[in-house]
Amino acid sequence: ISLASQNFLESLGVWQMMPAERRNPVRQMEVHGDLDGVIVLDAQESQMLELAYIVESGEIENALYNALKVYGVPWIDDTFKSFEQWQGQIECGSGQIIKAKLLIGADGARSTVRQACSIRHEFKAYGDTGLVAQLNVEKPHLDTAVQWFGDFGVLAFLPLPDTQDGHQVSMVWSAPQHLAAKYQAMSPEELAERLPPALQAIAQRRLGELSLRSPMFGFPLTFESSGMIGPSVALVGDAAHRVHPLAGQGLNLGLGDVETLCKILIERESVRDINDLRLLQRYRNQRAEAIFNMRFATDGLYRLFAIRSPMVAMARNAGLKVVDKMPFLKKYFVRSAAGN
Ligand SMILES: Cc1cc2nc3c(=O)[nH]c(=O)nc-3n(C[C@H](O)[C@H](O)[C@H](O)COP(=O)(O)OP(=O)(O)OC[C@H]3O[C@@H](n4cnc5c(N)ncnc54)[C@H](O)[C@@H]3O)c2cc1C
Repeated sequence: ISLASQNFLESLGVWQMMPAERRNPVRQMEVHGDLDGVIVLDAQESQMLELAYIVESGEIENALYNALKVYGVPWIDDTFKSFEQWQGQIECGSGQIIKAKLLIGADGARSTVRQACSIRHEFKAYGDTGLVAQLNVEKPHLDTAVQWFGDFGVLAFLPLPDTQDGHQVSMVWSAPQHLAAKYQAMSPEELAERLPPALQAIAQRRLGELSLRSPMFGFPLTFESSGMIGPSVALVGDAAHRVHPLAGQGLNLGLGDVETLCKILIERESVRDINDLRLLQRYRNQRAEAIFNMRFATDGLYRLFAIRSPMVAMARNAGLKVVDKMPFLKKYFVRSAAGN
């Protein structure tokens, strides 16, 4: 969660509903290239207390659900099926009909809203798989998020709060298909035995002994982009765009959509209804730059590290080292990580 997303959730009273002991600040980010290049971004160097927070998605979902109850927002336990724009009617999976002037599709990358409303959608598979699991680690993570680029893809250890079992991190490994398939095919016992040494080799035993703390899940990684709006319809989050998880910014981008859309709807001119096409166009236009920049940064970084030439590897690692010696540029990256 970037600081911009934190501020937004705080303004809604949702941040305060997440147990403080389950939110871990990130005070340092360390990015290792595939040779000896490394960049360290430090909150203190930029006169900040933290760069971001790591919060498990379940905690965010619980807090959002509780906020709906507190604010008295009705929760309809059903699925979306279709939308009759001209009559302002939504048909649910159960057959129930709901009246709605504006439909907001927040239904993820395989969005039924997007499909039902024929909103343009482009899709490209990276061919990699995002493997996620929680790990017990021997040494404290010191609120540092560490990321390694290499032939193995991109491996990140994100700091989680300590529990009575000791120190923990969340693993996000964007692994090439052959590697991901190898680990996904293993039984839980075999995985518990063979994954930790493979991770230790990449992380150079940085956090000491590792062990699996949760099952491992895999997600095919895709780059997706859509038209964002249709008549009386707006898409937010992964329904509207999907980026590579290497920057850990997918959810932040979605929360940025929600914040912008809310602001436009709240501040609309009195002559405009909430489904006015002008408002929806405003929303699309105001989000265009942030979404373009995030796509450009994540896709560009992914492509840069996918080039296997030794010359390019030397150049990109030299680039990391140069940036690491430039406080001004590092402050710029820190501000970007914070969502400013
Ligand atoms: C491996 C991996 C690691 C990631 N790590 C990070 C990270 O560290 N930080 C970060 O910010 N982002 C990260 N992301 C991205 C982040 O997970 C997504 O951007 C975020 O979950 C998108 O949220 P969303 O609500 O738009 O979609 P989703 O999380 O996909 O939620 C969509 C919801 O809609 C529901 N739904 C679907 N269809 C229907 C229907 N027809 N009717 C009703 N409901 C429906 C689904 O059940 C689901 O609850 C990561 C992604 C991957 C793959």
